[in-house]
Amino acid sequence: AAVIATCFAAITHDERTFMNVPDAETASKNLLFITSVPHVAGTKEDFMMAEYVSEALRSYGIPEVETFELETLLNYPSFDEAPSLNVVGKKDEVLFTAKLSEDIADTTSDTPFRNHTYFGYAPSGDVSGEAIFVNYGRPEDFDALLANGITVKGKVVIARYGKCFRGLKVMNAETRGAVGVLIYSDPEDDGYAFGETYPDGPWRSESSVQRGSVQFNSICAGDPMRADPRYAEQGMSLEGLCGVSNFTDLIPKIPALPLSYGDAKPILELLGGKDAKDVFSSFSGALDITYTTGPSAAIVNFKTNNPFAVKTIPNVIAKIPGSLSEEEDMPVLLGNHRDAWVYGAADPNSGTASLLEVGRGLGELLKEGWKPKRSIYLLSWSGEEFGLLGSTGWAELNFDKIKRSCAYINVDTVVSGDELTVSATPSLATLWRGVMEDLDAEESFLGRFANGPHGNVMDANINSPLGDAEIGTLGSGSDYTVFLDHFGIASLDFEYSSPAGTYGVYHSIYDSYDWINNYGGRDGEVGSSFQLMAGAAQVWGLLTLRLSDSEILPFDQEQQAKALRGYEQAIEEQGTELDLSGLKSAIDDYTEAANMITKEIGAGKQGHEINERLAFVERMFLSEEGLPGRQWMKHILQAPGFYLGYAAEALPGIQQALDDGDLEQAQNQADVAGNLISKAANYLAGRDETRGDKGG
Ligand code: GLU
Ligand code: ZN
Ligand code: ZN
Repeated sequence: AAVIATCFAAITHDERTFMNVPDAETASKNLLFITSVPHVAGTKEDFMMAEYVSEALRSYGIPEVETFELETLLNYPSFDEAPSLNVVGKKDEVLFTAKLSEDIADTTSDTPFRNHTYFGYAPSGDVSGEAIFVNYGRPEDFDALLANGITVKGKVVIARYGKCFRGLKVMNAETRGAVGVLIYSDPEDDGYAFGETYPDGPWRSESSVQRGSVQFNSICAGDPMRADPRYAEQGMSLEGLCGVSNFTDLIPKIPALPLSYGDAKPILELLGGKDAKDVFSSFSGALDITYTTGPSAAIVNFKTNNPFAVKTIPNVIAKIPGSLSEEEDMPVLLGNHRDAWVYGAADPNSGTASLLEVGRGLGELLKEGWKPKRSIYLLSWSGEEFGLLGSTGWAELNFDKIKRSCAYINVDTVVSGDELTVSATPSLATLWRGVMEDLDAEESFLGRFANGPHGNVMDANINSPLGDAEIGTLGSGSDYTVFLDHFGIASLDFEYSSPAGTYGVYHSIYDSYDWINNYGGRDGEVGSSFQLMAGAAQVWGLLTLRLSDSEILPFDQEQQAKALRGYEQAIEEQGTELDLSGLKSAIDDYTEAANMITKEIGAGKQGHEINERLAFVERMFLSEEGLPGRQWMKHILQAPGFYLGYAAEALPGIQQALDDGDLEQAQNQADVAGNLISKAANYLAGRDETRGDKGG
């Protein structure tokens, strides 16, 4: 590791030229425009913002900028017929009618969108039933109810946000026979439990609703229909890619609706039944009520009207060609989504403001005559909010462009607070740490924290499970998923967020320019979020330049070996009967191969063969069959947890089988992992030429 680190230890002349470009004013100006109107995927405003991003990149001097349009299945709530929700008593009297509308709280919240609270991919429907509170809607929550004799069959389920992806809450309820699902934001999870609510503070207010997709995202990402005609033209199908015969297998069949806590509270108060504290382990909530499970005596009726249609979404694909030949090029991919549920100031356009600053910085370098060794792509996605549609579609339909890519660096909500966190493929840990160290010493770095628990960027990265840097494991929930989990391209995602791990205006109408200006940055420092966006661009740019221009790619496979050991030990510690000897000896081999390549590099070995081994070894972790029950997820080292959606599981094939109590499957998956890691070790050691750029 030390040897590799010296290859990119200090800020270079080019890096300093780049560093001097990003600034808060430009980030703010770009963000003000992009957040000026709601720009949901597939709308004309989405196209308008795609055009803005394209024009900006062209004006900065990025040579190749084009739009990649993709046809996808989408649904929007009808503007003519708003959703409704009523609670009806035994004598048919209406006990409560939900508002389903967000209050006017800042300069941009007076828009029709405040009445369009809905879930992407939730079907239209009109359902009634007694209501049951299912806590977070995880399998263990339904188990806890069952242990108390409470089933959700035929019932309307009310779940709270948090702990797992919302679509999986609906999936869990649907498989257990619920007729409809309501999901609300409990103030304990992103509301007044943390502080003042918007507009008096950053946290979620009484009428604020978290929209979002309810696709079953742990099974397969991308358009659930693969509707674009180029799929068929290229011989690809939904069945072949995702292992399901119909798009309806990837989205809910029952209607679902998001609720504010203002609308949820009166329903929860009516439930009756058992005390939630006696049913769910260590239960707590922040509403001033006694939480109970139901079933309610009253009937909850709700209607949704979300017509589906195949629509076109615009992705901006910009490229700076590298100086290497096409055969030797290993492109660096930078991506951020642009589509938003409403204005999307934090999610995702804080990241778009950063992307544009990266483009501006690289444009300055180009003007000075610089040319990257490896091609750099700047990618502005649409359709992320519905289920990573743009990124997945572009990657699947343009395999030739990405098959030799060395890395994908993503940002989504790059600023919603002031604490820097990162998740990445372990082989990128040393690159990250090097950038952090160098920026920490750099006067011109704009991403430093003023307040909060950390005085500087390095403090955010201590106590690592990898020993060197605190690097999280990538799950899903953003656009790196297709690159890492489907195509085995090393990936990294970072953000400045609040220590709460969430922020109070997520997917609501209040994720606005006003919010991010007042509350999105350093605690109490109005306007500081724009500095952090520029700082994020400096981080992103340095990562990019080191990937694009280093003679030897800054991959540290010793970190990967260390991570493998950690993953295996975590399985072993679960005290099962599994025979892990094959897996362990494969990891020994990988460790040896990693040490060997480090030595080769130390001895001055160069050339594209060594770079291919460093980067393309990631492809070797793809299994052709994919993970059990979800063939699209091909990476055996990490995946979004099947019931988690956002959070990662390591060695997911083994882990999921253990969770399901299926020892035979777990053994089988341990053998699959052992085999692939052993082949990866051979490839890394330069003994096997069979995989390389073939990808998945
Ligand atoms: N980022 C979006 C969300 O969290 C989409 C995630 C996904 O579909 O995986 O709602
Ligand atoms: Zn996002
Ligand atoms: Zn989002």
